[in-house]
Amino acid sequence: MIPKKDGYPKQVQTLSSPVSHLRGVGPKRAGLLAQKGIHTVLDLLFFTPIHYEDRTTICPLREVEEGVPCLVNGEVVSGGEEKFYKSRKRLFRIRLRDEKSVLDLLWFNYKEPHLSRFAAQGTRLLVYGTIRLSRGRPQMIHPEVSLYARGGDGDTENLLAFYPVYSAVAGISGAALRSFIRSALDQYAGALVDPVPPETAHGLGLPTLDQALRFVHFPDREASIDDLNQSRTPSHRRLIFDRFFLVMIVMAFRKKSREKGICPAFFTPTGLENELKRILPFKLTGQQIKAVQDIAKDLVSGKAMNRLLLGDVGCGKTIVAAVAAHITVLNRRQVALMVPTQVLATQHLEYFTQLSDKMGFRPVLLTGGLSKAARREIVHEIRSGSYNLIIGTQSLIQEDLVFSDLGLTIIDEQHRFGVRERALMDRKGVNPHLLVMTATPIPRTLAITLYGDMDISLIRGYPKGRLPVLTQMAKEGEKRMLFDSLIRRLSQGQQAFVICPVIEGSEDADLKNAVEMAEKLRKVLSPRFRIGLIHGRLSADEREAVMHDFRKGAIDLLVGTTVIEVGVHVPGATVMIIEHPERFGLAQLHQLRGRVGRGSESGVCYLVLSKDLSEKAISRLEVLVQNHDGFQIAEKDLEQRGHGELTGTKQTGMGEMDLGDMIREPDLLLRAKQEAQHLIDADPELSKPEHAVLKAFVESVLIRPLDL
Ligand code: ADP
Ligand code: MG
Repeated sequence: MIPKKDGYPKQVQTLSSPVSHLRGVGPKRAGLLAQKGIHTVLDLLFFTPIHYEDRTTICPLREVEEGVPCLVNGEVVSGGEEKFYKSRKRLFRIRLRDEKSVLDLLWFNYKEPHLSRFAAQGTRLLVYGTIRLSRGRPQMIHPEVSLYARGGDGDTENLLAFYPVYSAVAGISGAALRSFIRSALDQYAGALVDPVPPETAHGLGLPTLDQALRFVHFPDREASIDDLNQSRTPSHRRLIFDRFFLVMIVMAFRKKSREKGICPAFFTPTGLENELKRILPFKLTGQQIKAVQDIAKDLVSGKAMNRLLLGDVGCGKTIVAAVAAHITVLNRRQVALMVPTQVLATQHLEYFTQLSDKMGFRPVLLTGGLSKAARREIVHEIRSGSYNLIIGTQSLIQEDLVFSDLGLTIIDEQHRFGVRERALMDRKGVNPHLLVMTATPIPRTLAITLYGDMDISLIRGYPKGRLPVLTQMAKEGEKRMLFDSLIRRLSQGQQAFVICPVIEGSEDADLKNAVEMAEKLRKVLSPRFRIGLIHGRLSADEREAVMHDFRKGAIDLLVGTTVIEVGVHVPGATVMIIEHPERFGLAQLHQLRGRVGRGSESGVCYLVLSKDLSEKAISRLEVLVQNHDGFQIAEKDLEQRGHGELTGTKQTGMGEMDLGDMIREPDLLLRAKQEAQHLIDADPELSKPEHAVLKAFVESVLIRPLDL
């Protein structure tokens, strides 16, 4: 399965060369880059700037504006260290003059001894920084400085450029990163074989890959800064297209190879619907029945199922998955259920355990929290077939886990996983069926393209009797009302969440934080009500214990951060209070409020507005009050935030796409999908010599181990 690298033409090897082949990149730095998803030279070349600084023109001092970064050229009037005698703090000041005006450059507690070499009177400097006005005088704090030279090889004016700024890579300076990219371009860009067929790029009016890469990292001075910063140049669009195209190729390839693979046809029990009526505590909705039918049809088809179950939070996807698992175990095959968090895994274990007798499950939990010995034991039992339902986190993908007879993989909350996880789970058996479930917080049209390798079942609406979560904004003055409502519900035995944007005050003093909030509420409400606290700094086991207590009712009110966002199900929880809702995305708020009102009582969600919240922020939150369809909310969210703000949200290696790019360039995405489909239809194995590069890429994505 693992291709031999030497079997490929030379260019292919360059494409997937590890970053450690670059000058200056040793194993340590390679490790740091890997944490950012940068494994290969190709990943690095596609690690595009998140922002550009305009350092193309020198700005006269009399034209500078407060708060605006600029490049200035001037002569040193005076320079040197100053001391504040009281605080013993040190300050280094260089005063600079151009024709008419003066600028002070300041360094506090400076450590750099090299500053003095810029300080001699008459020295010409080139300085970049943000202007601040102090008593009407322009200043720059900790600017970047270099010596200014005119004429000859060292002419500073030749260096004026748009300056790329990259998303920070921990442990590697911006300058080092730039130099790695520079040498990647020098060493490799010429040898790079364009994975996109040249006619395709040409047809879209896009430059070659080589041109695009050079431009995006080191743009021409003629470019427009706005176009650069909004990724609108043809070169940017070219790279975006390539990312889309490569992902779509992987998807199309995977889909094709799964279609080819045979897979024993399952039988479905006769009278399944009646059986379900008998064993379930509620009636399935029409949409759920339709989804079950879609799945059953796939399972008996003799081809591996490849289905996405798409539906809003609370629409009732889990029970549909349970039915799929039921059919699978009746066929004496195993089921793997993968979820993104340990809390969710435990919760699913409980859910499926309750159904065990009726549905024939022998479930077990396999998460990252287990000791080595315990894991080995469970893995052994799984291999021997003692369990038929294995529920776990990403640890299910690990190499040591071998199933005795995996028939179905279910992946829940798919939006946390990518095509790679899907593909890696494919390898865990002989063409296991696959069902993935998601309440993807993106517009539906986009979801359909994104999951281009899957068939889709859609559940719209909610189970009967379930009301949408009533959502209200509570202004500062209305806190009393909110508190009364909380107490009333708690007194009736209902449970509540309070969500804060940060864990502790040290992160951002202006924001309500979970730790203090829990203390405050404890003072007022304990011992009458029991208050719990959950956040990302607790260990997985601690979080587990808190969620467990909350679920079984030993905690009445749970204060936490967004760690509870994904899929947590506590039927008794009916109230959610969200502090600083303006700090969250609408789609995320929608996921959060989906945690309440999941039992017999309807839920209510209060968005607490701080005093100084802008009209714009409030009208954004209004969308949530008015709308209850997650997909619509995602669309509105994007409309309002504008596309620009989504750029650079996520930087990843190749084989993944950026949501912002997908939203800004839906046409490119669609084109990429069509082109990829076309290419795979014509050459399903990617065996043509001109596709060797693509084949190597696809395999590298599908076989590269996950960064767990
Ligand atoms: P999600 O789609 O967000 O995963 P769940 O599957 O957790 O939602 O379902 C939410 C709640 O709705 C659960 O308590 C579940 O038992 C309940 N539920 C699901 N289907 C029905 C139904 N047909 N009638 C009544 N309640 C249902
Ligand atoms: Mg769910």
